[in-house]
Amino acid sequence: MSTILIAGASRGIGREFVRQFVAAGWTVHATARDGTGAAVLAAEGALPHRLDITDDASIAALAQELAGRPLDAVIANAGISGDLSLPLGAVSGAELARVFDTNLFGVLRLVAALKPNLRAGERKLALAMSSLMSSISSNDWSTQYAYRASKTALNAAWRSLATEWRPEGIACVLLRPGFVKTDMTGHQGMEVADSVAGMRAVVEGLDLSDSGRVIGYDGLDVPW
Ligand code: NDP
Repeated sequence: MSTILIAGASRGIGREFVRQFVAAGWTVHATARDGTGAAVLAAEGALPHRLDITDDASIAALAQELAGRPLDAVIANAGISGDLSLPLGAVSGAELARVFDTNLFGVLRLVAALKPNLRAGERKLALAMSSLMSSISSNDWSTQYAYRASKTALNAAWRSLATEWRPEGIACVLLRPGFVKTDMTGHQGMEVADSVAGMRAVVEGLDLSDSGRVIGYDGLDVPW
């Protein structure tokens, strides 16, 4: 039986990942920031943990809880949009830092802490959430400075991670969910179940040859 950790799973895409991986028979560890979210995860059939991805002590505590447990896959799903659509002058440095702390630094610190678990797993999949918003070549229709830049930087860092971890057999892949009905989008877009079903099919087929790719729910690569 395969085992996965889904970080940032209290709602939205993360929670749907929990539902679908549990339904597919995986052992699912999942994280929430508070007790209410953890109870939701337990009710979905996951093994709940508490995690704030911006807090080093919280990441260390999670790594301690999972010590010695192989993980086939980690999905670092936690993310925030920040204030979207502001002109550059209205985006504070603190806001840029807040979005980067979650979407980039937190995600990187989390997978670094769980590397021993991934190395011990069979599938060895380090996964995080990118977006079409990460794409520089397709960016001609909105600003969204903090969010776009954080996801572009995540792409760059994940590509480096793919290079670093390839010799150890760990595939580092970014997933693009599409535009999905969640709190982040004001519940506009495609159904979360359809997006996650598409990404799950992608995950099931991944191997080391896919490392360094950014792959959509539709199986298509996202342009850099
Ligand atoms: P939601 O806003 O619905 O959910 C975000 C999740 O991330 C929540 O579970 C939230 O937990 C968690 N989270 C946020 N900050 C932290 C933190 N510091 N520590 C731990 N968990 C945290 O977002 P979506 O489900 O829409 O998005 C999930 C991922 O997919 C994100 O990375 C997003 O950027 C990406 N994405 C989403 C798209 C979409 O159309 N929805 C499109 C492209 C990418 P809590 O409940 O505690 O706040």
